[in-house]
Amino acid sequence: MSHLPIPTLVPIIGLEIHVELNTKSKMFCSCSNDPGAGEPNRHVCPVCLAHPGTLPVPNRAAIVAAVKVGRALGCSIRELSKFDRKHYFYPDLPKGYQISQYDEPIAERGTLTLAFPLETNTRDEAEIGIRRAHLEEDTARLLHDQDGATLVDFNRSGAPLVEIVTDPDFKTALEAKTFAQELQTILRYLGVSDADMEKGQMRVEANISVQAAGSFEIASGAVRPLGGCRLNNKVEVKNINSFRAVERAIEFEIGRQTRLIGAGESWPQETRGWDEDTGETLPQRAKENAADYRYFPEPDIPPFHPLALAGDSLLPELPAARRARFREEYGFSYSDAKILTDDKFLSDYTDAVMSEIIDWVCSLDETASDTGDVKEQKKAKIARLAGNWLTNKLLGLLHEHKKDIRRLKVSPENFAELVALLYAGRINAGGATKILAEMVAAGTDIDPTHIMEEKGYGQINDEVALAAIISAVINSYPAQVEQYRAGKEPVFHFLKGMVMKATEGGAEPAVVEKLLRAELDK
Ligand code: ZN
Ligand code: MN
Repeated sequence: MSHLPIPTLVPIIGLEIHVELNTKSKMFCSCSNDPGAGEPNRHVCPVCLAHPGTLPVPNRAAIVAAVKVGRALGCSIRELSKFDRKHYFYPDLPKGYQISQYDEPIAERGTLTLAFPLETNTRDEAEIGIRRAHLEEDTARLLHDQDGATLVDFNRSGAPLVEIVTDPDFKTALEAKTFAQELQTILRYLGVSDADMEKGQMRVEANISVQAAGSFEIASGAVRPLGGCRLNNKVEVKNINSFRAVERAIEFEIGRQTRLIGAGESWPQETRGWDEDTGETLPQRAKENAADYRYFPEPDIPPFHPLALAGDSLLPELPAARRARFREEYGFSYSDAKILTDDKFLSDYTDAVMSEIIDWVCSLDETASDTGDVKEQKKAKIARLAGNWLTNKLLGLLHEHKKDIRRLKVSPENFAELVALLYAGRINAGGATKILAEMVAAGTDIDPTHIMEEKGYGQINDEVALAAIISAVINSYPAQVEQYRAGKEPVFHFLKGMVMKATEGGAEPAVVEKLLRAELDK
């Protein structure tokens, strides 16, 4: 038996993502778009129940939302677009076809660039091609009861979906997961969907095939065999319900195909389902080809002009641009900028805090005499301080109190004032932590200066008061004082610690150090 050299294997990965749009009404009728409604078959009409003779009327808001999604993903938007019928039989699709878009999707050929700055991925940057983004209608939902009967809930039937298809450009499972997360952030910034994977508002399917390196090329989003090589079959994985599952399912499938190649076996082109409990993919059905769907233009809806319908509806600043601006304008670290922009509300809050902070620092007596240059130099220090207090202290307290930032009563002005007090040395970190905890716990917006003065959380920099504490410490630890004076420097830190403890952390360490050293060296 001869052993052939085992080729280097590489995965080819692409994603198809369905997103539920949060429009008021459904895609082709005026029923309320509330797919999660508690009572089944509440939001239905002859159109979304597929009664014969009814006519679909496209929802303009859904078309505008799809144009926004396309623009946010750098796609070109079609002048003229149309709907098509995609035929298949399933009990959740009473028409026997889904109204979708085939060869003239609203948006085509875009890119989304992902950054991996922490060396967690095999490359720092991944540019993912977006093949298309199109509109379609959702199916009804099937409920299987304990007696083995299947019930149909039509609340979801005809709900608007945007389907986004990427090129097979992902090189790792992490890249695919990161793409899904970034897409969710973008959709939330656009306000077109909450895109919650657990609620099925964003459904990710992954296409995966493991190939021998050098046996293929990817050109304009298409995978082509090289030099007469035969490519391995592509597998589509469904039922992925979380970001973690995106990564796990792809990793599992890469491993499974790699083992089959190692054993000299092949696999069919098929759809497999991710099983969260067993952590594996299982065969569901053989994959259809486009021809099986017998696509043809929807005769009941005339072609439409997405660009004209959307007008020049402006996009908000998108997450990647905001991240870059936060680093550039405020001097935040990459990780602080990332954390602060992942949630649009938090990023708006941060923007408001930062625009206040400069004003506050300038209005304090301690910094009022600074020149423009000095202020510029201090920017980095303020950014570190503000970034840390937003990402660690504020988010930490919110987490601890199980509070959503949307319900936080602390105004950006007062949060900025707290950071400014800290920056100016009016309070130390210990005092600021106590003040912020009170601000977050309070049911109203409280001024931190007010809490500082009322509770005496300011720094004890009164030299007379400190001198008394220092001489008390010196009297209490004669042996250690003796050791220090004999040249044992490390003992100084012990004595300084005792003074800090006596002030309950309220003294400025640099002042304590100066006064204690002067007293000991007498
Ligand atoms: Zn309806
Ligand atoms: Mn679809």
